[in-house]
Amino acid sequence: MKPRSALAQALPRSGIREVMDLARQMDDVIVLVVGEPSFNTPPHIIDAAAQAAHAGTTKYTPNAGLPGLRSAVAERYSHKFGREVTPGEVLVTAGAVNALAAIVAAIAEEGDEILIPDPGWPNYVAMIELARVMPVRYRLEPETGYRPDLAAMEAQISPRTKAIIINNPSNPTGGVFDEATVKGLVELARKHDLWLISDEVYEDLIFAGEHVPAARFDSERVITISGVSKSYAMTGWRIGWAITNPELVALCGKIQEALVSCPPAPSQAAAEAALRGSQDMVEEMRAAYQRRRDLVRDIFLPLGMLPAVPEGAFYALIDLRSANIPSRDLSRMLLEEEHVAAAPGSTFGDVAEGMLRISLATADDDLRQGCQRVVRFARRHGALVPEVEPATAGATA
Ligand code: PMP
Repeated sequence: MKPRSALAQALPRSGIREVMDLARQMDDVIVLVVGEPSFNTPPHIIDAAAQAAHAGTTKYTPNAGLPGLRSAVAERYSHKFGREVTPGEVLVTAGAVNALAAIVAAIAEEGDEILIPDPGWPNYVAMIELARVMPVRYRLEPETGYRPDLAAMEAQISPRTKAIIINNPSNPTGGVFDEATVKGLVELARKHDLWLISDEVYEDLIFAGEHVPAARFDSERVITISGVSKSYAMTGWRIGWAITNPELVALCGKIQEALVSCPPAPSQAAAEAALRGSQDMVEEMRAAYQRRRDLVRDIFLPLGMLPAVPEGAFYALIDLRSANIPSRDLSRMLLEEEHVAAAPGSTFGDVAEGMLRISLATADDDLRQGCQRVVRFARRHGALVPEVEPATAGATA
């Protein structure tokens, strides 16, 4: 039987998948494409989930999540936002991706538009298109440290625009927005009466200064998205959340009924244990990513191949634009010639065309060797421009 939905068929295939499929057919590939923590979930979290499952937390839960986890999330963000967040403002979901998709379905209709970052996480496009909503990309230029140009963004707002999605810290740029930038984005949303959907899944992975949650400046229109995947190395447990007003939480609860009914019960127990337990592992993992960020910076910055130094998350965009080779070809050639798998920049949008995204979620020795091979590849293909002046990704000027 043929698939029936033209919409589903037209969804773009991830460039990351393509590279991984090729890499699997080869030996001794250094894999720098992975978008998830390189650590296992801390043992006390796994134990808490097992205990909860033995005690009967193995059934359906309320659509918006178990009360204990909703309270733990509310407490965490009361502290971060500087106001009381109630459990009724918390929607627990099957990963942050499910929170984003449910929110998009709840706030926009066919023909509406949502602004998304370029470069940005490719799933934004897919989930918005699946809701028959139009993604409109705003540019984050490497020359400005991947900061948004608010005037240019404003010019892209139309009567059909319903929301702006921001991602801070960013996949794939590693950019972190300073307070003035976050305030500016909130102001822009307020001026045009838009939702500001702030994807903060990498909020705990910051290498300098403090992460500034957008909801600190507007609790009405900012919808905060996050989860346990990145901070606690829990990608496979599938727990995320949205923090927004109780009416929207209830509406999303209805949508969840049709999509997943509820998030998985034992995973919710694990997430509660993660939030309430020791945070030592979060800091240990963060420090490891920072050490690897330093390693990548020291290799690529002097060669003019790192337009902006990552300040958070666990990615770096490596600039090979001087080679004048499309990203998809670059990543295939790098794999064939150097046995290194890196994600093509164009998967994240037009701005990163000619670049490659490497992941810091890779063991130090593999990362160092992989980077050295990228340099050798770049030299061979004329991609080195040593005189380029570096910027800092999203940091205070
Ligand atoms: N947002 C961004 C920017 C991401 O990179 C990811 C995961 N790669 C997610 C959201 C989704 O995370 P989760 O595992 O919680 O669905």
